[in-house]
Amino acid sequence: MRCPFCQSDDTKVLDTRLIDDGSQVRRRRECTSCGERYTTREVVDLNFPRLIKSDNSRELFSEEKLRSGLLKALEKRPVKTSEIETAIQRIERKLMTQSDREVPSNKIGGWVMEELKSLDEVAYIRFASVYRQFQDIEAFKNEIDRLMKK
Ligand SMILES: [Zn+2]
Repeated sequence: MRCPFCQSDDTKVLDTRLIDDGSQVRRRRECTSCGERYTTREVVDLNFPRLIKSDNSRELFSEEKLRSGLLKALEKRPVKTSEIETAIQRIERKLMTQSDREVPSNKIGGWVMEELKSLDEVAYIRFASVYRQFQDIEAFKNEIDRLMKK
């Protein structure tokens, strides 16, 4: 954080306080070169990265789309709504912690597959076949065989 008085990069944090029920962090800082004190605020940046689709176009992340994709795969499967919501939150958290401002949409597809794999294997296969995440027909067949053997 650059000092607003002398532009020095080197500041020291004197005090950190949570405000607005913890949704904001306020820091009291002191510049180590000129000694001026000032306050900074941090808020959580809830902007998701944009998604790069396979045709290279960009689109905004939509929680609704993610949810409907999951629900479609999980239709009539014995999985609790709360478990689905937790999976959505985990995927969103992964998305938010990406350092890039643009993320290939198939990366999210991969995360959805991971979640479905642990929630319900039938839903996992449904999703995987619809979204053609398997490299080829052979890989898809191997996955089915693997599940049948269990
Ligand atoms: Zn300064």
